[in-house]
Amino acid sequence: MSAHSYVEIMKLADKMKRELCGYCGSETPGATKIWICSNCESPVYAGFIGQVKMNKTHMEALEQVNGFISSGDYAKAVEEYEKLANANGDPALLYRLGLLCFSYSNNEIKQIRYDRKGFMEENARHRSLSHAMYSKGGLLLNRAAVSLEAEFKKNAMTPLIAFTLFMIYIKLDNMRSARRVLELIERRGDEYLSAYGKMVFDSQIGDYSGSVHNANELLKPDNFSINAFYYIALALFMNRKYKEAAELLDSLGKRVRNNSVDALLSEVRKAIGLI
Ligand SMILES: [Zn+2]
Repeated sequence: MSAHSYVEIMKLADKMKRELCGYCGSETPGATKIWICSNCESPVYAGFIGQVKMNKTHMEALEQVNGFISSGDYAKAVEEYEKLANANGDPALLYRLGLLCFSYSNNEIKQIRYDRKGFMEENARHRSLSHAMYSKGGLLLNRAAVSLEAEFKKNAMTPLIAFTLFMIYIKLDNMRSARRVLELIERRGDEYLSAYGKMVFDSQIGDYSGSVHNANELLKPDNFSINAFYYIALALFMNRKYKEAAELLDSLGKRVRNNSVDALLSEVRKAIGLI
């Protein structure tokens, strides 16, 4: 399918309802009972906006965190999110906190400069903070995985537990555990989460044709994920189809708020020679 055809399909999202993610506060369009947040890839529940109104404090805290992220103050964002995660006790909040620490770590790396003299000390500070945040993120993801595995043993597998656990193992690059959880999701017969999980898994192991095959399963009006376009764009980029990837990402960036989309688009533009 051409990038142009994908962009046409993406327009389906404009007519869909949008739900707020209870873990990062982003809004994602969807048409199924559960879909995946376009920002942190946590499950989003249809009707969650109704619940959110009942829990105003939680959503206000997420908004505050997002304000700190937008202004580049990751230290404050992590501090505020940590309060939220400690007060709530939901292990899925630890997953999001871990991702936030990874973003903090990346942001510190970006500030390392070699082109100016007299910045060695500052570079060392950024590097050491980046390492600290990377290990903190990893520890949080591991802690979340231990809690979710324990809940998993006690209760029946809910999509939230299973899918969050799967994403944690993906982020930790623990593909053996990711595959084990994905097989459980598939056995449960959830078509949407299975296709989404396989798309992410294949992309992570570098099987981009497998990833696109599963992404194509998620482009139907009743089985839709806007994130499928990101994984298709990533596959196009890896196959050096830069112009097509840019067309898709431009269109996606207008519809979702996502650092990965921005980062990939900037890589694509660099490859085309626009930057
Ligand atoms: Zn989210």
